[in-house]
Amino acid sequence: MNQQIQPIFILPEGSQRTTGKDAQRNNIAAAKAVAETVRTTLGPKGMDKMLVDSMGDVVVTNDGVTILEEMQIEHPTAKMIVEVAKTQESEVGDGTTTAVVLAGTLLKNAEELLDDNIHPTIIAKGYRMASEKSQEILNELAEKIDEKDDEILKRTAITAMTGKGAEGNKDVLSDLAVKAVRLVKDEDGVDLETIRFEKKTGDKIENSELIMGIVMDKERVHNAMPKKVKDAKIALLDAALEIKGPESDTKIEINDPRQLEAFIDREERTIKDMIERVKASGANVVICQKGIDDLAQHYLAKSNIYAVRRVKKSDLDNLARATGAKVVNNIKELSSEDLGYAGLVEELKVGDELMTYVRECKNPKAVTILLRGGTQHVVDEIERAMKDAIGDIAAMLKSGKAVAGAGATEIELAKRLRKYANSLSGKEQLAVLAFAEAMEVIPRTLAENAGLDPVDIVAELKSRHDQPEGRWAGINVFTGKIMDAWEEGVIEPLKIKTQAVASASEVTELILRIDDVIASSGSSKGNPAGRMPHPEMDGMM
Ligand code: ADP
Ligand code: MG
Repeated sequence: MNQQIQPIFILPEGSQRTTGKDAQRNNIAAAKAVAETVRTTLGPKGMDKMLVDSMGDVVVTNDGVTILEEMQIEHPTAKMIVEVAKTQESEVGDGTTTAVVLAGTLLKNAEELLDDNIHPTIIAKGYRMASEKSQEILNELAEKIDEKDDEILKRTAITAMTGKGAEGNKDVLSDLAVKAVRLVKDEDGVDLETIRFEKKTGDKIENSELIMGIVMDKERVHNAMPKKVKDAKIALLDAALEIKGPESDTKIEINDPRQLEAFIDREERTIKDMIERVKASGANVVICQKGIDDLAQHYLAKSNIYAVRRVKKSDLDNLARATGAKVVNNIKELSSEDLGYAGLVEELKVGDELMTYVRECKNPKAVTILLRGGTQHVVDEIERAMKDAIGDIAAMLKSGKAVAGAGATEIELAKRLRKYANSLSGKEQLAVLAFAEAMEVIPRTLAENAGLDPVDIVAELKSRHDQPEGRWAGINVFTGKIMDAWEEGVIEPLKIKTQAVASASEVTELILRIDDVIASSGSSKGNPAGRMPHPEMDGMM
Protein backbone atom coordinates (compact mmCIF):
# COMPACT_ATOMS: atom_id res chain seq x y z
CA MET A 1 0.00 0.00 0.00
CA ASN A 2 2.75 2.32 0.94
CA GLN A 3 4.15 2.52 -2.50
CA GLN A 4 6.50 5.37 -3.14
CA ILE A 5 5.14 7.62 -5.88
CA GLN A 6 7.83 8.88 -8.17
CA PRO A 7 7.53 12.57 -8.94
CA ILE A 8 7.01 13.16 -12.63
CA PHE A 9 8.92 15.95 -14.28
CA ILE A 10 7.29 17.33 -17.34
CA LEU A 11 9.38 20.47 -17.51
CA PRO A 12 13.09 20.79 -18.15
CA GLU A 13 15.32 21.13 -15.14
CA GLY A 14 15.51 24.61 -13.73
CA SER A 15 12.11 25.74 -14.99
CA GLN A 16 10.05 27.66 -12.53
CA ARG A 17 6.37 27.29 -12.17
CA THR A 18 3.81 29.08 -10.10
CA THR A 19 0.20 28.11 -10.26
CA GLY A 20 -3.27 29.05 -9.10
CA LYS A 21 -3.64 31.84 -6.59
CA ASP A 22 0.11 32.32 -6.27
CA ALA A 23 0.49 33.00 -9.96
CA GLN A 24 -2.46 35.34 -9.93
CA ARG A 25 -1.39 37.33 -6.91
CA ASN A 26 2.12 37.58 -8.22
CA ASN A 27 0.95 38.92 -11.52
CA ILE A 28 -1.38 41.41 -9.94
CA ALA A 29 1.31 42.62 -7.60
CA ALA A 30 3.70 43.17 -10.49
CA ALA A 31 1.13 45.08 -12.53
CA LYS A 32 0.21 47.25 -9.56
CA ALA A 33 3.84 48.03 -8.94
CA VAL A 34 4.19 49.34 -12.48
CA ALA A 35 1.13 51.53 -12.10
CA GLU A 36 2.42 52.80 -8.80
CA THR A 37 5.68 54.00 -10.28
CA VAL A 38 4.01 56.34 -12.76
CA ARG A 39 1.05 57.36 -10.63
CA THR A 40 2.74 60.31 -8.98
CA THR A 41 3.41 61.88 -12.37
CA LEU A 42 -0.27 62.15 -13.39
CA GLY A 43 -1.72 65.53 -14.11
CA PRO A 44 -0.57 69.14 -14.08
CA LYS A 45 0.76 68.81 -10.57
CA GLY A 46 2.41 65.46 -11.14
CA MET A 47 6.07 65.09 -10.29
CA ASP A 48 8.87 64.24 -12.70
CA LYS A 49 11.13 61.24 -12.64
CA MET A 50 14.83 61.24 -13.20
CA LEU A 51 16.02 58.16 -14.98
CA VAL A 52 19.68 57.31 -15.20
CA ASP A 53 20.72 54.56 -17.59
CA SER A 54 23.73 52.27 -17.34
CA MET A 55 25.77 54.77 -19.34
CA GLY A 56 24.94 57.51 -16.86
CA ASP A 57 22.69 59.34 -19.30
CA VAL A 58 19.93 61.22 -17.59
CA VAL A 59 16.32 61.68 -18.66
CA VAL A 60 13.98 63.89 -16.68
CA THR A 61 10.34 63.39 -17.61
CA ASN A 62 6.82 62.81 -16.44
CA ASP A 63 5.76 61.09 -19.60
CA GLY A 64 4.37 57.68 -18.66
CA VAL A 65 5.55 55.69 -21.62
CA THR A 66 9.03 57.23 -21.54
CA ILE A 67 9.45 56.33 -17.89
CA LEU A 68 8.37 52.75 -18.41
CA GLU A 69 10.55 52.31 -21.48
CA GLU A 70 13.60 53.69 -19.72
CA MET A 71 13.04 51.48 -16.69
CA GLN A 72 13.69 48.32 -18.72
CA ILE A 73 11.15 46.33 -16.81
CA GLU A 74 11.72 42.58 -16.88
CA HIS A 75 8.81 40.95 -15.10
CA PRO A 76 6.61 39.33 -17.76
CA THR A 77 3.32 40.64 -16.40
CA ALA A 78 4.73 44.04 -15.71
CA LYS A 79 5.82 44.08 -19.34
CA MET A 80 2.23 43.55 -20.39
CA ILE A 81 1.33 46.75 -18.58
CA VAL A 82 4.14 48.55 -20.33
CA GLU A 83 2.59 47.37 -23.59
CA VAL A 84 -0.60 49.18 -22.61
CA ALA A 85 1.35 52.40 -22.41
CA LYS A 86 3.00 51.73 -25.74
CA THR A 87 -0.30 51.02 -27.43
CA GLN A 88 -1.72 54.22 -26.01
CA GLU A 89 1.33 56.07 -27.29
CA SER A 90 1.03 54.71 -30.80
CA GLU A 91 -2.75 55.00 -31.03
CA VAL A 92 -3.18 58.43 -29.49
CA GLY A 93 0.18 59.78 -28.41
CA ASP A 94 -1.11 60.92 -25.03
CA GLY A 95 -2.78 59.43 -21.97
CA THR A 96 -0.14 56.82 -21.28
CA THR A 97 -0.06 57.39 -17.54
CA THR A 98 -3.83 57.33 -17.40
CA ALA A 99 -3.99 53.97 -19.17
CA VAL A 100 -1.42 52.38 -16.89
CA VAL A 101 -2.96 53.74 -13.70
CA LEU A 102 -6.37 52.49 -14.79
CA ALA A 103 -4.97 49.02 -15.47
CA GLY A 104 -3.31 48.92 -12.05
CA THR A 105 -6.50 49.92 -10.29
CA LEU A 106 -8.69 47.52 -12.24
CA LEU A 107 -6.39 44.75 -11.07
CA LYS A 108 -6.34 45.99 -7.52
CA ASN A 109 -10.14 46.00 -7.43
CA ALA A 110 -10.22 42.57 -9.02
CA GLU A 111 -7.98 41.34 -6.26
CA GLU A 112 -10.56 42.37 -3.69
CA LEU A 113 -13.20 40.40 -5.54
CA LEU A 114 -10.87 37.42 -5.65
CA ASP A 115 -10.55 37.73 -1.88
CA ASP A 116 -14.33 37.42 -1.71
CA ASN A 117 -14.02 34.17 -3.63
CA ILE A 118 -15.40 35.43 -6.88
CA HIS A 119 -14.00 33.42 -9.72
CA PRO A 120 -11.56 35.23 -12.01
CA THR A 121 -13.51 34.36 -15.13
CA ILE A 122 -16.60 36.03 -13.67
CA ILE A 123 -14.57 39.13 -12.91
CA ALA A 124 -13.09 39.10 -16.38
CA LYS A 125 -16.52 38.80 -17.89
CA GLY A 126 -17.92 41.64 -15.80
CA TYR A 127 -14.97 43.80 -16.74
CA ARG A 128 -15.54 43.02 -20.39
CA MET A 129 -19.18 44.09 -20.10
CA ALA A 130 -18.22 47.26 -18.27
CA SER A 131 -15.55 48.07 -20.81
CA GLU A 132 -17.96 47.74 -23.70
CA LYS A 133 -20.54 49.82 -21.91
CA SER A 134 -17.87 52.44 -21.26
CA GLN A 135 -17.25 52.88 -24.96
CA GLU A 136 -20.93 53.54 -25.43
CA ILE A 137 -21.14 55.94 -22.50
CA LEU A 138 -18.03 57.86 -23.53
CA ASN A 139 -19.32 58.28 -27.05
CA GLU A 140 -22.63 59.59 -25.77
CA LEU A 141 -20.95 61.89 -23.33
CA ALA A 142 -18.51 63.44 -25.81
CA GLU A 143 -19.12 66.84 -27.37
CA LYS A 144 -18.98 67.32 -31.09
CA ILE A 145 -16.46 69.93 -32.01
CA ASP A 146 -16.20 72.34 -34.88
CA GLU A 147 -13.14 71.14 -36.74
CA LYS A 148 -12.40 74.59 -38.05
CA ASP A 149 -12.24 75.99 -34.56
CA ASP A 150 -8.55 76.58 -33.89
CA GLU A 151 -9.28 77.76 -30.38
CA ILE A 152 -10.54 74.39 -29.21
CA LEU A 153 -7.56 72.66 -30.78
CA LYS A 154 -5.26 75.05 -28.99
CA ARG A 155 -7.00 74.33 -25.71
CA THR A 156 -6.47 70.63 -26.32
CA ALA A 157 -2.78 71.19 -26.93
CA ILE A 158 -2.53 73.28 -23.78
CA THR A 159 -4.27 70.59 -21.73
CA ALA A 160 -1.68 68.11 -22.94
CA MET A 161 1.18 70.44 -22.04
CA THR A 162 -0.07 71.66 -18.67
CA GLY A 163 2.35 70.67 -15.97
CA LYS A 164 5.13 69.77 -18.37
CA GLY A 165 8.28 71.67 -19.23
CA ALA A 166 6.41 73.23 -22.13
CA GLU A 167 3.82 74.92 -19.97
CA GLY A 168 5.59 78.24 -19.56
CA ASN A 169 5.35 78.83 -23.29
CA LYS A 170 2.07 77.11 -23.92
CA ASP A 171 0.69 79.86 -26.15
CA VAL A 172 3.54 79.80 -28.63
CA LEU A 173 3.88 76.05 -28.57
CA SER A 174 0.18 75.20 -28.86
CA ASP A 175 -0.01 77.56 -31.78
CA LEU A 176 2.85 75.76 -33.51
CA ALA A 177 1.23 72.40 -32.83
CA VAL A 178 -2.12 73.40 -34.30
CA LYS A 179 -0.54 74.99 -37.37
CA ALA A 180 1.66 71.98 -38.00
CA VAL A 181 -1.23 69.53 -37.82
CA ARG A 182 -3.40 71.68 -40.07
CA LEU A 183 -0.65 71.83 -42.68
CA VAL A 184 0.07 68.13 -42.96
CA LYS A 185 -3.48 66.89 -42.60
CA ASP A 186 -4.96 65.29 -45.68
CA GLU A 187 -8.02 63.15 -46.47
CA ASP A 188 -6.47 60.19 -44.67
CA GLY A 189 -5.97 62.17 -41.51
CA VAL A 190 -2.64 63.10 -40.01
CA ASP A 191 0.50 61.08 -40.50
CA LEU A 192 2.47 61.99 -37.40
CA GLU A 193 5.71 61.07 -39.17
CA THR A 194 5.33 64.12 -41.37
CA ILE A 195 5.76 66.50 -38.46
CA ARG A 196 9.44 66.44 -37.70
CA PHE A 197 11.25 67.85 -34.73
CA GLU A 198 14.64 69.43 -34.79
CA LYS A 199 16.05 70.44 -31.41
CA LYS A 200 18.69 73.04 -30.72
CA THR A 201 19.80 74.33 -27.38
CA GLY A 202 21.01 77.78 -26.55
CA ASP A 203 17.94 79.89 -27.16
CA LYS A 204 14.65 80.62 -25.44
CA ILE A 205 11.76 78.18 -25.81
CA GLU A 206 9.57 80.96 -27.19
CA ASN A 207 11.87 81.25 -30.17
CA SER A 208 10.87 77.80 -31.34
CA GLU A 209 9.48 77.99 -34.83
CA LEU A 210 7.51 76.16 -37.44
CA ILE A 211 9.35 75.71 -40.70
CA MET A 212 7.20 75.27 -43.78
CA GLY A 213 9.52 72.58 -44.94
CA ILE A 214 12.46 70.70 -43.55
CA VAL A 215 15.47 71.55 -41.45
CA MET A 216 18.45 69.28 -41.70
CA ASP A 217 21.54 68.94 -39.59
CA LYS A 218 23.63 69.36 -42.77
CA GLU A 219 25.89 71.96 -44.21
CA ARG A 220 26.47 72.64 -47.87
CA VAL A 221 29.32 70.55 -49.21
CA HIS A 222 31.48 73.30 -50.66
CA ASN A 223 32.32 76.78 -49.44
CA ALA A 224 32.01 78.34 -52.87
CA MET A 225 28.37 77.33 -53.12
CA PRO A 226 25.75 79.99 -52.47
CA LYS A 227 24.60 80.19 -48.86
CA LYS A 228 21.13 81.13 -49.87
CA VAL A 229 19.04 80.10 -52.83
CA LYS A 230 15.79 81.89 -53.51
CA ASP A 231 13.13 80.20 -55.62
CA ALA A 232 14.87 76.92 -55.10
CA LYS A 233 14.33 74.15 -57.60
CA ILE A 234 15.31 71.08 -55.74
CA ALA A 235 16.57 67.76 -57.03
CA LEU A 236 16.35 64.83 -54.61
CA LEU A 237 18.85 62.16 -55.50
CA ASP A 238 19.10 58.65 -54.23
CA ALA A 239 22.28 58.18 -56.26
CA ALA A 240 25.89 59.11 -55.68
CA LEU A 241 27.52 61.97 -57.49
CA GLU A 242 30.81 60.18 -57.71
CA ILE A 243 32.61 57.54 -59.69
CA LYS A 244 32.13 54.12 -58.29
CA GLY A 245 35.47 52.95 -57.00
CA PRO A 246 36.88 49.96 -58.95
CA GLU A 247 35.99 46.60 -57.45
CA SER A 248 38.69 45.56 -55.05
CA ASP A 249 40.05 42.87 -57.33
CA THR A 250 40.10 44.93 -60.49
CA LYS A 251 43.52 45.83 -61.71
CA ILE A 252 44.08 48.75 -63.92
CA GLU A 253 47.32 48.50 -65.71
CA ILE A 254 48.75 51.72 -66.78
CA ASN A 255 52.03 51.68 -68.57
CA ASP A 256 52.34 55.10 -69.85
CA PRO A 257 51.49 58.53 -68.45
CA ARG A 258 49.19 59.30 -71.36
CA GLN A 259 47.07 56.36 -70.43
CA LEU A 260 46.77 57.66 -66.92
CA GLU A 261 45.76 61.02 -68.23
CA ALA A 262 43.12 59.46 -70.42
CA PHE A 263 41.82 57.50 -67.50
CA ILE A 264 41.54 60.55 -65.30
CA ASP A 265 40.01 62.47 -68.16
CA ARG A 266 37.36 59.85 -68.52
CA GLU A 267 36.49 59.98 -64.84
CA GLU A 268 36.36 63.72 -64.97
CA ARG A 269 34.10 63.62 -67.97
CA THR A 270 31.70 61.22 -66.28
CA ILE A 271 31.39 63.52 -63.30
CA LYS A 272 31.07 66.54 -65.52
CA ASP A 273 28.30 64.80 -67.45
CA MET A 274 26.45 64.10 -64.25
CA ILE A 275 26.57 67.72 -63.21
CA GLU A 276 25.51 68.78 -66.71
CA ARG A 277 22.44 66.61 -66.24
CA VAL A 278 21.67 68.31 -62.99
CA LYS A 279 22.11 71.71 -64.58
CA ALA A 280 20.01 70.77 -67.58
CA SER A 281 17.10 69.83 -65.32
CA GLY A 282 17.10 73.39 -64.02
CA ALA A 283 17.92 72.43 -60.45
CA ASN A 284 19.73 74.95 -58.29
CA VAL A 285 19.66 72.80 -55.16
CA VAL A 286 20.76 69.17 -54.97
CA ILE A 287 19.98 67.02 -51.98
CA CYS A 288 21.71 63.72 -52.15
CA GLN A 289 21.25 60.62 -50.06
CA LYS A 290 24.66 59.31 -51.05
CA GLY A 291 28.06 60.85 -51.49
CA ILE A 292 29.21 63.76 -53.62
CA ASP A 293 32.92 63.59 -54.42
CA ASP A 294 35.36 66.49 -54.54
CA LEU A 295 35.22 66.95 -58.24
CA ALA A 296 31.44 66.92 -58.33
CA GLN A 297 31.41 69.42 -55.49
CA HIS A 298 33.70 71.65 -57.47
CA TYR A 299 31.53 71.56 -60.59
CA LEU A 300 28.34 72.08 -58.59
CA ALA A 301 29.85 75.06 -56.87
CA LYS A 302 31.00 76.45 -60.21
CA SER A 303 27.42 76.18 -61.43
CA ASN A 304 26.13 78.00 -58.35
CA ILE A 305 24.23 74.97 -57.15
CA TYR A 306 23.65 74.44 -53.43
CA ALA A 307 24.27 70.83 -52.50
CA VAL A 308 24.18 68.63 -49.40
CA ARG A 309 25.09 64.97 -49.18
CA ARG A 310 24.47 61.87 -47.09
CA VAL A 311 20.98 62.92 -46.12
CA LYS A 312 18.89 60.38 -44.24
CA LYS A 313 16.33 58.42 -46.22
CA SER A 314 13.53 59.61 -43.95
CA ASP A 315 14.59 63.21 -44.51
CA LEU A 316 14.58 62.67 -48.24
CA ASP A 317 11.06 61.26 -48.09
CA ASN A 318 9.87 64.19 -46.03
CA LEU A 319 11.58 66.59 -48.41
CA ALA A 320 9.64 65.00 -51.21
CA ARG A 321 6.41 65.61 -49.29
CA ALA A 322 7.36 69.14 -48.41
CA THR A 323 8.64 70.31 -51.78
CA GLY A 324 6.70 68.11 -54.17
CA ALA A 325 9.90 66.69 -55.64
CA LYS A 326 10.33 63.13 -56.82
CA VAL A 327 13.26 61.14 -55.53
CA VAL A 328 15.40 60.12 -58.50
CA ASN A 329 17.77 57.21 -58.32
CA ASN A 330 19.34 57.46 -61.71
CA ILE A 331 20.95 60.74 -62.62
CA LYS A 332 20.39 60.05 -66.29
CA GLU A 333 16.66 60.19 -65.73
CA LEU A 334 16.59 63.46 -63.86
CA SER A 335 14.26 65.94 -65.54
CA SER A 336 12.66 69.24 -64.65
CA GLU A 337 9.47 67.45 -63.68
CA ASP A 338 11.22 65.70 -60.82
CA LEU A 339 12.20 68.93 -59.15
CA GLY A 340 10.52 70.30 -56.05
CA TYR A 341 10.07 73.88 -54.99
CA ALA A 342 10.94 75.91 -51.93
CA GLY A 343 10.85 79.67 -51.62
CA LEU A 344 14.18 79.62 -49.85
CA VAL A 345 16.97 77.19 -49.16
CA GLU A 346 19.66 78.47 -46.87
CA GLU A 347 22.46 77.51 -44.59
CA LEU A 348 22.23 78.98 -41.13
CA LYS A 349 24.27 78.70 -38.01
CA VAL A 350 22.11 77.49 -35.16
CA GLY A 351 23.92 77.25 -31.88
CA ASP A 352 27.34 76.26 -33.14
CA GLU A 353 26.18 73.99 -35.92
CA LEU A 354 25.46 74.66 -39.55
CA MET A 355 22.05 73.59 -40.72
CA THR A 356 20.22 73.59 -44.00
CA TYR A 357 16.75 75.10 -44.03
CA VAL A 358 14.36 74.26 -46.83
CA ARG A 359 11.57 76.70 -46.17
CA GLU A 360 8.62 78.52 -47.69
CA CYS A 361 7.41 75.40 -49.42
CA LYS A 362 4.05 75.75 -51.10
CA ASN A 363 1.48 73.58 -49.46
CA PRO A 364 4.02 71.37 -47.68
CA LYS A 365 2.86 67.93 -46.67
CA ALA A 366 5.74 67.67 -44.23
CA VAL A 367 6.89 70.33 -41.82
CA THR A 368 9.51 70.79 -39.12
CA ILE A 369 9.16 72.20 -35.68
CA LEU A 370 12.43 73.66 -34.57
CA LEU A 371 12.45 73.51 -30.79
CA ARG A 372 14.70 75.77 -28.81
CA GLY A 373 15.49 75.72 -25.11
CA GLY A 374 18.26 76.24 -22.63
CA THR A 375 19.52 72.69 -22.30
CA GLN A 376 19.14 69.31 -23.93
CA HIS A 377 16.93 68.05 -21.07
CA VAL A 378 14.59 70.96 -21.57
CA VAL A 379 14.20 70.54 -25.32
CA ASP A 380 13.80 66.79 -24.96
CA GLU A 381 10.95 67.16 -22.50
CA ILE A 382 9.33 69.85 -24.63
CA GLU A 383 9.47 67.55 -27.60
CA ARG A 384 7.63 64.87 -25.63
CA ALA A 385 4.97 67.35 -24.54
CA MET A 386 4.60 68.65 -28.10
CA LYS A 387 4.20 65.11 -29.41
CA ASP A 388 1.43 64.51 -26.86
CA ALA A 389 -0.25 67.72 -27.95
CA ILE A 390 0.04 66.92 -31.64
CA GLY A 391 -1.30 63.41 -31.10
CA ASP A 392 -4.28 64.88 -29.25
CA ILE A 393 -5.04 67.43 -31.95
CA ALA A 394 -4.84 64.75 -34.62
CA ALA A 395 -7.12 62.47 -32.63
CA MET A 396 -9.53 65.33 -32.13
CA LEU A 397 -9.72 66.10 -35.84
CA LYS A 398 -10.10 62.45 -36.69
CA SER A 399 -13.16 61.76 -34.58
CA GLY A 400 -14.44 65.30 -34.18
CA LYS A 401 -15.25 64.49 -30.58
CA ALA A 402 -13.92 65.80 -27.31
CA VAL A 403 -14.42 65.38 -23.59
CA ALA A 404 -13.41 67.44 -20.59
CA GLY A 405 -10.41 66.46 -18.50
CA ALA A 406 -9.57 67.23 -14.88
CA GLY A 407 -11.31 64.04 -13.76
CA ALA A 408 -14.72 65.08 -15.08
CA THR A 409 -15.02 62.33 -17.65
CA GLU A 410 -13.98 59.57 -15.29
CA ILE A 411 -16.44 60.60 -12.56
CA GLU A 412 -19.27 60.80 -15.06
CA LEU A 413 -18.29 57.46 -16.55
CA ALA A 414 -18.24 55.86 -13.09
CA LYS A 415 -21.65 57.28 -12.33
CA ARG A 416 -23.22 55.94 -15.51
CA LEU A 417 -21.51 52.58 -15.12
CA ARG A 418 -23.02 52.23 -11.66
CA LYS A 419 -26.42 52.85 -13.13
CA TYR A 420 -25.71 50.17 -15.69
CA ALA A 421 -24.59 47.78 -12.92
CA ASN A 422 -27.95 48.19 -11.26
CA SER A 423 -29.59 46.74 -14.32
CA LEU A 424 -27.53 43.58 -13.95
CA SER A 425 -27.81 40.71 -11.57
CA GLY A 426 -25.41 38.09 -10.39
CA LYS A 427 -21.78 38.42 -9.56
CA GLU A 428 -20.95 40.26 -12.76
CA GLN A 429 -22.72 43.18 -11.19
CA LEU A 430 -20.04 43.31 -8.53
CA ALA A 431 -17.37 43.31 -11.20
CA VAL A 432 -19.03 46.18 -13.05
CA LEU A 433 -19.22 48.13 -9.80
CA ALA A 434 -15.54 47.44 -9.16
CA PHE A 435 -14.81 48.67 -12.66
CA ALA A 436 -16.79 51.85 -12.07
CA GLU A 437 -14.96 52.48 -8.85
CA ALA A 438 -11.62 52.01 -10.60
CA MET A 439 -12.36 54.89 -12.98
CA GLU A 440 -12.34 57.25 -10.02
CA VAL A 441 -8.65 56.66 -9.51
CA ILE A 442 -7.95 59.39 -12.06
CA PRO A 443 -9.61 62.28 -10.17
CA ARG A 444 -8.40 60.81 -6.91
CA THR A 445 -4.83 60.81 -8.15
CA LEU A 446 -5.10 64.27 -9.69
CA ALA A 447 -6.23 65.54 -6.30
CA GLU A 448 -3.58 63.65 -4.40
CA ASN A 449 -0.79 64.83 -6.66
CA ALA A 450 -1.99 68.39 -6.16
CA GLY A 451 -1.76 67.98 -2.41
CA LEU A 452 -5.55 68.00 -2.01
CA ASP A 453 -7.65 65.64 0.04
CA PRO A 454 -8.79 63.01 -2.45
CA VAL A 455 -11.70 61.78 -0.35
CA ASP A 456 -13.26 65.21 0.02
CA ILE A 457 -12.67 66.15 -3.57
CA VAL A 458 -14.12 62.99 -5.04
CA ALA A 459 -17.17 63.23 -2.78
CA GLU A 460 -17.76 66.79 -3.87
CA LEU A 461 -17.24 65.92 -7.51
CA LYS A 462 -19.77 63.12 -7.28
CA SER A 463 -22.39 65.36 -5.78
CA ARG A 464 -21.79 67.94 -8.52
CA HIS A 465 -22.22 65.26 -11.14
CA ASP A 466 -25.60 64.43 -9.67
CA GLN A 467 -26.79 67.93 -10.42
CA PRO A 468 -28.12 68.94 -13.82
CA GLU A 469 -25.37 70.26 -16.10
CA GLY A 470 -22.81 68.82 -13.74
CA ARG A 471 -21.29 66.36 -16.13
CA TRP A 472 -18.11 68.29 -16.78
CA ALA A 473 -17.40 69.10 -13.14
CA GLY A 474 -13.70 68.54 -12.60
CA ILE A 475 -10.89 69.48 -10.28
CA ASN A 476 -9.15 72.79 -10.49
CA VAL A 477 -5.83 71.47 -9.30
CA PHE A 478 -4.49 74.97 -8.85
CA THR A 479 -7.17 76.28 -6.50
CA GLY A 480 -8.45 73.02 -5.04
CA LYS A 481 -11.99 73.98 -6.06
CA ILE A 482 -14.42 72.23 -8.35
CA MET A 483 -14.78 73.78 -11.79
CA ASP A 484 -16.62 73.18 -15.03
CA ALA A 485 -13.68 71.69 -16.88
CA TRP A 486 -15.23 72.18 -20.31
CA GLU A 487 -15.87 75.86 -19.67
CA GLU A 488 -12.36 76.25 -18.34
CA GLY A 489 -10.99 74.75 -21.52
CA VAL A 490 -9.49 71.58 -20.06
CA ILE A 491 -10.31 69.58 -23.14
CA GLU A 492 -9.10 66.24 -24.38
CA PRO A 493 -9.91 64.12 -27.40
CA LEU A 494 -12.46 61.37 -26.82
CA LYS A 495 -9.98 58.85 -28.12
CA ILE A 496 -7.62 59.31 -25.13
CA LYS A 497 -10.32 57.98 -22.86
CA THR A 498 -11.80 55.27 -25.06
CA GLN A 499 -8.37 53.88 -25.84
CA ALA A 500 -7.14 54.03 -22.24
CA VAL A 501 -10.23 52.30 -20.86
CA ALA A 502 -10.27 49.66 -23.57
CA SER A 503 -6.64 48.66 -23.31
CA ALA A 504 -6.51 48.84 -19.52
CA SER A 505 -9.51 46.53 -19.38
CA GLU A 506 -8.13 44.18 -21.99
CA VAL A 507 -4.84 43.64 -20.23
CA THR A 508 -6.63 43.17 -16.90
CA GLU A 509 -8.85 40.46 -18.33
CA LEU A 510 -5.82 38.80 -19.84
CA ILE A 511 -3.91 38.81 -16.56
CA LEU A 512 -6.93 37.57 -14.60
CA ARG A 513 -7.24 34.53 -16.79
CA ILE A 514 -3.69 33.39 -16.11
CA ASP A 515 -3.43 30.74 -13.42
CA ASP A 516 -0.17 29.18 -14.36
CA VAL A 517 3.18 30.75 -15.06
CA ILE A 518 5.87 28.52 -16.44
CA ALA A 519 9.25 30.05 -17.01
CA SER A 520 11.98 28.07 -18.65
CA SER A 521 15.36 28.08 -16.98
CA GLY A 522 16.84 30.20 -19.76
CA SER A 523 14.57 33.08 -19.01
CA SER A 524 16.13 34.34 -15.84
CA LYS A 525 14.69 37.60 -17.03
CA GLY A 526 11.20 36.26 -16.95
CA ASN A 527 11.38 35.18 -13.36
CA PRO A 528 7.77 34.60 -12.40
CA ALA A 529 8.54 34.84 -8.74
CA GLY A 530 8.46 38.50 -9.57
CA ARG A 531 11.37 40.60 -8.55
CA MET A 532 10.09 44.09 -9.12
CA PRO A 533 12.04 47.31 -9.14
CA HIS A 534 10.41 48.24 -5.89
CA PRO A 535 8.30 45.95 -3.86
CA GLU A 536 6.35 48.36 -1.71
CA MET A 537 3.01 47.81 -3.26
CA ASP A 538 1.04 48.28 -0.12
CA GLY A 539 0.63 51.96 -0.64
CA MET A 540 -1.06 51.34 -3.94
CA MET A 541 -3.94 53.69 -4.47
P1 ADP B 1 -1.13 61.15 -19.28
O1 ADP B 1 0.15 60.47 -19.55
O2 ADP B 1 -2.19 60.19 -18.86
O3 ADP B 1 -1.57 62.07 -20.36
P2 ADP B 1 -0.69 63.55 -17.77
O4 ADP B 1 0.39 63.74 -16.77
O5 ADP B 1 -0.56 64.25 -19.06
O6 ADP B 1 -0.86 62.01 -17.98
O7 ADP B 1 -2.05 63.98 -17.07
C1 ADP B 1 -3.26 63.89 -17.70
C2 ADP B 1 -4.37 64.23 -16.74
O8 ADP B 1 -4.27 65.58 -16.30
C3 ADP B 1 -5.72 64.10 -17.42
O9 ADP B 1 -6.61 63.43 -16.57
C4 ADP B 1 -6.13 65.54 -17.63
O10 ADP B 1 -7.53 65.71 -17.67
C5 ADP B 1 -5.52 66.22 -16.45
N1 ADP B 1 -5.34 67.66 -16.67
C6 ADP B 1 -4.69 68.27 -17.68
N2 ADP B 1 -4.75 69.61 -17.57
C7 ADP B 1 -5.47 69.87 -16.45
C8 ADP B 1 -5.88 71.07 -15.79
N3 ADP B 1 -5.57 72.26 -16.26
N4 ADP B 1 -6.61 70.93 -14.66
C9 ADP B 1 -6.89 69.72 -14.17
N5 ADP B 1 -6.54 68.56 -14.74
C10 ADP B 1 -5.83 68.62 -15.88
MG1 MG C 1 -0.85 63.81 -21.06
